[in-house]
Amino acid sequence: AKRSGRGRILRFDPAMEEELHGRLSLVSRLAEAQANGQFSLVYQPQIALSDGTPFGSEALLRWQLPEGTWVRPDQFIPVAEDAGHILSLGEWVLRQACLHQVHWRDSAVGRLRMAVNVSVRQLRDGSFVHSAERILSSCNADPRDIELEITESHAMENDQVLATVRTLRGMGFSIAIDDFGTGYSSLSRLQQLPASVLKIDRSFVTDLGTVPESRSIAATIVKVGHELGMTVLAEGIETAEQEEILRSLGCDAAQGYLYAKPMPAPQFERWILDNMP
Ligand code: C2E
Ligand code: CA
Ligand code: CA
Ligand code: CA
Repeated sequence: AKRSGRGRILRFDPAMEEELHGRLSLVSRLAEAQANGQFSLVYQPQIALSDGTPFGSEALLRWQLPEGTWVRPDQFIPVAEDAGHILSLGEWVLRQACLHQVHWRDSAVGRLRMAVNVSVRQLRDGSFVHSAERILSSCNADPRDIELEITESHAMENDQVLATVRTLRGMGFSIAIDDFGTGYSSLSRLQQLPASVLKIDRSFVTDLGTVPESRSIAATIVKVGHELGMTVLAEGIETAEQEEILRSLGCDAAQGYLYAKPMPAPQFERWILDNMP
């Protein structure tokens, strides 16, 4: 599709036009969505593989349109990133996650670590560190209880991003490298990152038990993580077999449908109370 003089869209390829149209309408609806309370967070427990104790959760963003349709994060996050909207949306996510973490900390649920996904667009923006500081103090959250998840490919992007991650670490935040194994980081680069958690990407976990190479890849990631002093968490565990293999490889922690799907806060609270040792 291409714009003509008066802003009309010329049709070249119907699929392309539909794609453009879909993105345009998502962009315009994103702006209202935040003001109108269409976003919410769901929480997925993270458990210790040694004894099954839940110790944390990952906050995941959900968007429901007024007509009831749910838009998947893989559909709207890239759009929100392109439109720059991820900056205010990301702040909202961090604030909500901190509020829930503090609420749970001061209730029967207890102290859980809260993992929050951070887009590289937020890290590139000069104001993120300051707004994170503001959010922490206004929510009365302890940064050591808040883990910022940064995808492997982005964490290694450039020195400015690396410097920002170091600043956040210096403020006390825990740092996790997300989707590990899908990027091309060198070990020396990995060593420069002040991360305490390495998350094995779901693609390797899914193939465990069927693709022999996946087991060696997972084994290598566990070794590398431990070598660098990190905790290793596997995501997307769906079967007891996958869990058993990961435990035998020395993987520390896990997250996946085998334990629980991401849940709205009230349901998550009940799950934790039911699954506490
Ligand atoms: P991610 O950070 O890698 O999150 C893990 C995804 O795997 C989540 O999808 C989760 O629901 C899903 N998952 C967890 N366990 C299992 C399992 O056992 N099997 C399967 N098949 N899937 C599992 P979700 O919630 O759709 O999020 C997709 C992606 O959207 C996330 O991938 C993350 O990159 C992004 N995202 C979600 N929330 C946020 C956010 O608040 N901010 C940013 N920047 N990105 C977010
Ligand atoms: Ca994540
Ligand atoms: Ca991930
Ligand atoms: Ca991912």
